[in-house]
Amino acid sequence: MFRKSMQELSPSHPYHLKKPAKEKDRVIVYFTSLRGVRKTYEDSCYVRVILKGAGVRVDERDVSMHSGFKEELKQLLGGCGGGFSLPRVFIGKKYIGGAEEVRRLHEEGQLEKAVEGCEQAEAEDGGGSCEACGDIRFVPCETCNGSCKIYYEEEEEEDEELEDEEEGLEGEEGINGGDYGFQRCPDCNENGLIRCPICCY
Ligand SMILES: [Zn+2]
Ligand SMILES: [Zn+2]
Repeated sequence: MFRKSMQELSPSHPYHLKKPAKEKDRVIVYFTSLRGVRKTYEDSCYVRVILKGAGVRVDERDVSMHSGFKEELKQLLGGCGGGFSLPRVFIGKKYIGGAEEVRRLHEEGQLEKAVEGCEQAEAEDGGGSCEACGDIRFVPCETCNGSCKIYYEEEEEEDEELEDEEEGLEGEEGINGGDYGFQRCPDCNENGLIRCPICCY
């Protein structure tokens, strides 16, 4: 009875029971921070501002920082054909569209409704930027210090061979298939970056 009466309170009432914790959808924006194409860049900025203005947490995926996002997006849009342009917006698994669609939703006052049930932005997300990454959403990889390479010690082999390996490897990434020498760092992307652990959890 008590629970029921609580649920009947208006949603704005401070004692209103929250809906049972379930996986909330997330607003995901694939965009670019490169200014190469002005419209793409401006549209990218636009959708991020509008979506944040709707009070939801925005999972920002900058394809210019991480080619993995590009692959991800290709798969998500797979079969649509005609290539893809940026930005692209998803709410959970649902494809929303690009800047035009977001602009329309916003102008028609439908955006708040569309993002209903999505993760809300935390209060401190409002103005301040992320201390760890400065809102770049990426930080240098700690495993390799951003070099994308880690050096594995050779185990009791002749020194001469090791020197050859090192010289031969100069500028040629991934040529060494062995278990030692320079190997591609497994933790980071092609730019020696990892997603910011503070704001991209
Ligand atoms: Zn790394
Ligand atoms: Zn961050």
